[in-house]
Amino acid sequence: MLIFEKGAEGRRTSLLPSCDVPVYELDDKYTRKMELNLPEVSEVEVSRHYSELAKKCHGVNDGFYPLGSCTMKYNPHINEKVAALPGFTQIHPLQCPKTVQGCLELLCDFEKKLCEITGMDRLTFQPAAGAQGEFTGILLIKKYHESRGDSKRKKIIIPDSAHGTNPATAAMADYEVISIESGPDGCIDLDKLREVCNEETAGLMLTNPNTVGLFDKNILEVTKIVHDCGGLCYYDGANLNAVMGIVRPGDMGFDCIHLNLHKTFSTPHGGGGPGAGPVGCKEFLAKFLPDDMPVQKECGCFGFETAEDTMGRVKAFYGNFLVVVRAYCYVLTLGKEGIPQASTNAVLNANYMMASLKNDYTMAYDEICMHEFVMDIASIKDATGITALDIAKGLLDNGIHPPTMYFPLIVHECLMVEPTETETKETLDGAIAVFKMLKEAAYENAESLHTAPHKAPVCRLDEVGAARNPILRYVKAE
Ligand SMILES: *Cc1c(COP(=O)(O)O)cnc(C)c1O
Repeated sequence: MLIFEKGAEGRRTSLLPSCDVPVYELDDKYTRKMELNLPEVSEVEVSRHYSELAKKCHGVNDGFYPLGSCTMKYNPHINEKVAALPGFTQIHPLQCPKTVQGCLELLCDFEKKLCEITGMDRLTFQPAAGAQGEFTGILLIKKYHESRGDSKRKKIIIPDSAHGTNPATAAMADYEVISIESGPDGCIDLDKLREVCNEETAGLMLTNPNTVGLFDKNILEVTKIVHDCGGLCYYDGANLNAVMGIVRPGDMGFDCIHLNLHKTFSTPHGGGGPGAGPVGCKEFLAKFLPDDMPVQKECGCFGFETAEDTMGRVKAFYGNFLVVVRAYCYVLTLGKEGIPQASTNAVLNANYMMASLKNDYTMAYDEICMHEFVMDIASIKDATGITALDIAKGLLDNGIHPPTMYFPLIVHECLMVEPTETETKETLDGAIAVFKMLKEAAYENAESLHTAPHKAPVCRLDEVGAARNPILRYVKAE
């Protein structure tokens, strides 16, 4: 039930004190001609409405959430406490820099720390999400070629395993996307890469470890091939969870990158934000970075600086500042030892689950994985008719959020599992038992899986109907 359907006409929640100044009547031409359609509910109705909605959601605080490529790790409460400090929340972006020195110092220090983690020289916090970070990074590459008068470079190479935002980004920046097929090992096929690299190549966009959870062992050769033809290398660092503190994109040969603070760096995500997709680059690209980079000036105080050949602004002010504060707190809490330990444990947890499920499910790539692994449900589907979707629905009845389904596109009937480092062995064992039970159910009681979930607030949805005839606007029932 929507909140508009609750309450009764004239019912109010009195949050404001009564008016103690003379009421000013607006001129008629400024006033609304129609009644404003607002819910008319009491305070307790509002409160219960949102509690009810919260109970219908599954978040990482409710249970296991192994959503591959999304890194649904636990978001430590200390991050929330720190981000709620009045010195961070009671400020305005147009305030004189002298009055927000602490906030600027935080941005400058975090820039240094993330540059250290990624092997980059400069970094902007402006982009609000991974996709916007990609766009910013590709604009860096574009400005670089333009600044050299190199106008032939119209193509961006992207492997077919890439996240959908990669080709979308390249297209938005007016590049032609050259998709290359991955090798049978899920990695870049070097011969195919050599074939498409030429004087029209603006750059390559790559995720490593890639979206099937494998680290490309030829990565140095990959970035060299692209550089040799005059292109630049973009690292999609949305998922740094397997490698932070262990290996750096800058050392793999990448020129610019983005990170998803709302994945790897434990700030909350889902439901559309807010997130943060900071973009780092090597020194030679820094002069193209967005406006208003926080810097420490010679006097020791903090202020802003605009790069000489800036691309302009990609987001209002300095990005989603409080998300950045949360991630900064996370990095300081973990420290130099904790950062690589988190990655090591993420890889260990993924391999533990993969090894435990290997006899029941076919693994798309049967080798040691990084922070996630891909299961191929095709053989189960052939034998029983049970699909990846059915398994996912079965997990819902067991209090587990499904893994990512049908992505990456190169494995058709797939489930992509990313347990993250913050789960206990008991949780992993519990999930392994559920996966095994569902596999058995596929063979013994397929109908129960076809109709799952049975316990969720809504059961099977008409997905085709929702896509073909979307109802995008609320219409009040008469
Ligand atoms: C999540 C993700 C993105 C996009 O990040 P958003 O913050 O959702 O825009 C890009 N690339 C990869 C590999 C991702 O996993």
